[in-house]
Amino acid sequence: MRTNGPDLGADYLVAFLNTLDVEEQTDALDDASGFAAWAREHGVEPGEPAEARRVRDALRQVVDGEEADLPAVQLTTACGERAVELSARTAAEAAVASSVVLSIQGKLGRVKLCGGDDCRWAFYDGSRNGSRQWCSMEVCGNRQKARTFRSRREEHAGSTSAAED
Ligand SMILES: [Zn+2]
Repeated sequence: MRTNGPDLGADYLVAFLNTLDVEEQTDALDDASGFAAWAREHGVEPGEPAEARRVRDALRQVVDGEEADLPAVQLTTACGERAVELSARTAAEAAVASSVVLSIQGKLGRVKLCGGDDCRWAFYDGSRNGSRQWCSMEVCGNRQKARTFRSRREEHAGSTSAAED
């Protein structure tokens, strides 16, 4: 038996966490029809937007290594051939189920939020040693490097003369 639910795992979880776009200051859950379209695209029902938001915000804290108050979500199981699977109906259920699957696989720690304060984009760290900090080295990694460089230069400038910007 194969359920026709969403594919549970990192791709789904990352997409769900990114319904909040910190940089653009948009939240796909704010708009009911937009969220319904998002859910359809990902093979889930939207469910209650308020619950989806609570679950998403808690999971964003979890993957960021913070303490989180994850709302209780009802998950059901389904039998496959020599397998027992979690099944999820709504967007929030699928996100929690994906987190459970990744936790069991020891991979939830690979789902991260970008270290850029104004970015915070969720991504899956597929690097060998799991040390990636940025959604994109080209964008956020370089931005951070430039910032570190600038603040170092300003520290220096403070002891001599004002920085010329
Ligand atoms: Zn980023």
